[in-house]
Amino acid sequence: MGRTSKDKRDVYYRLAKENGWRARSAFKLLQLDKEFQLFQGVTRAVDLCAAPGSWSQVLSQKIGGQGSGHVVAVDLQAMAPLPGVVQIQGDITQLSTAKEIIQHFKGCPADLVVCDGAPDVTGLHDVDEYMQAQLLLAALNIATHVLKPGGCFVAKIFRGRDVTLLYSQLQVFFSSVLCAKPRSSRNSSIEAFAVCQGYDPPEGFIPDLSKPLLDHSYDFNQLDGPTRIIVPFVTCGDLSSYDSDRSYPLDEACTLKRKGQLAKEIRPQDCPISRVDTFPQ
Ligand code: SAM
Repeated sequence: MGRTSKDKRDVYYRLAKENGWRARSAFKLLQLDKEFQLFQGVTRAVDLCAAPGSWSQVLSQKIGGQGSGHVVAVDLQAMAPLPGVVQIQGDITQLSTAKEIIQHFKGCPADLVVCDGAPDVTGLHDVDEYMQAQLLLAALNIATHVLKPGGCFVAKIFRGRDVTLLYSQLQVFFSSVLCAKPRSSRNSSIEAFAVCQGYDPPEGFIPDLSKPLLDHSYDFNQLDGPTRIIVPFVTCGDLSSYDSDRSYPLDEACTLKRKGQLAKEIRPQDCPISRVDTFPQ
């Protein structure tokens, strides 16, 4: 049986058709709102990865009352126009797209950023989860530029093996991070939605598009302020044992070892953790 007949059997697919939603995904956002009151007090929103546009439809109908809300929708693909929705066709992982989005919010930040983005699935779970995580981080990067303090970010997430790393990253920026699975999201899918409320970046955090999260040429040594984290460096192992950068003929190594002459001479001032008193003389 083909995809069409499966979709036709799906109750949310039929309901979407009956109610004029462009995709069954509309119900995911509606159900998330029912649980978290996402639209309360919202007048400005960004819909990332928006095509064909059912989330934008929901947003334009629900926020701001009487269509006075302001929605910016972004996708790689073109989308049929929607009343009250500004559309940008572009890749959210690209700097140029991020800049174009931010331009719309100068001086007037957004209350809500949503992202239902999904990469083209390869079937290789690790690759798909990695790609999905990168998309989410690109969306988060944009959110840090446009969200007002206390604002909300909702993004599709794949509940894979390393998902807790993503939760930790999100928790740096939001006072509350939850994982939600709407009823209309198929149980067979690993998709869920990270619902991040209370945008509250670390003190001193300055969003910087010249250092996008996905830029692999990023110089991490130039991080400063709250983004610069230095973890303790600890040497371990017996310093009188073989030096891994040298090669030893076996019999010579045994002699050196017996005489305690394997270790390099290390001056106390070169050594962050002082073990010099245990060095062989
Ligand atoms: N929320 C949409 C709706 O309700 O109609 C459905 C979104 S659909 C599941 C996922 C979308 O993500 C696709 O339209 C795809 O083009 C878009 N997408 C994937 N990667 C993207 C990227 N890097 N930049 C922008 N859009 C992207």
